[in-house]
Amino acid sequence: MKVAIIGGTGVYDPSMLKEVQTLTVETPYGQVELSAGAYLGRDVYFLPRHGSGHSVPPHKINYRANISALKELGVCCVVSTSAVGSLNKDMKPGDLVAVDQFIDFTKGRASTFYDGEDGKVVHTDFSEPYCPYLRKLLLEAAKNLGVSMHQKGCYVCTEGPRFETPAEIRMFQYMGGDIVGMTNVPEVVLAGEAGMCYATVAVVTNWAAGISSTRLTHQEVVDSMNDSLDSIRKILFQVIESVEEDRDCNCRRAPDAVEVQEHD
Ligand SMILES: [Zn+2]
Repeated sequence: MKVAIIGGTGVYDPSMLKEVQTLTVETPYGQVELSAGAYLGRDVYFLPRHGSGHSVPPHKINYRANISALKELGVCCVVSTSAVGSLNKDMKPGDLVAVDQFIDFTKGRASTFYDGEDGKVVHTDFSEPYCPYLRKLLLEAAKNLGVSMHQKGCYVCTEGPRFETPAEIRMFQYMGGDIVGMTNVPEVVLAGEAGMCYATVAVVTNWAAGISSTRLTHQEVVDSMNDSLDSIRKILFQVIESVEEDRDCNCRRAPDAVEVQEHD
């Protein structure tokens, strides 16, 4: 059973793992460095999304190499963490959200493993973008630990690295977005194409532009993030403990492959 966590360095606590080592994986898209260890008989991989030391901006992350490396290692389940701004007044700074949908506003990112180079056009079903099985485990773990977590939330992914304008945030609200971040797409897309179970727990760190007249102090954001990180770590390890080989989801089903039709 191989499980991976993709997130910031704060969510990873090496003291909870045994036999911790650093691995370098070669992929067709480039090299990926990650940490590996064991927890209750499971192989656990931790992949810092922005590279070590948060050195890569969101639009430059090598998402294909990251997911490709996990696939090569035989990882079946990925839980990611994501810091987000909130455009939904019910989702306050410090709150956790089990993301269930996304809206993609990225541009110019390499966001598919199916570039048509092998003569095949592949359309992957995304009616359930986040694994319902892993989402259920996240919500159960939060409940067991007495941590409140929003049952669902729509993640709007922007290109960044700049933050959004108030006009953009109003548009995202009209469209049904709840939270906004810069990294979930194409990560969730590639995991889906690779046939892996993937879920995201988002932590609200601030209100999005123009949502609240109350300005949070930097210290409040840092404090709420630190409080949330402790809960997230506990939730993640409980999910790793309870995830099973036998999962009632469709994530492993290969995407439908359609041969390219020649036109006259
Ligand atoms: Zn799944």
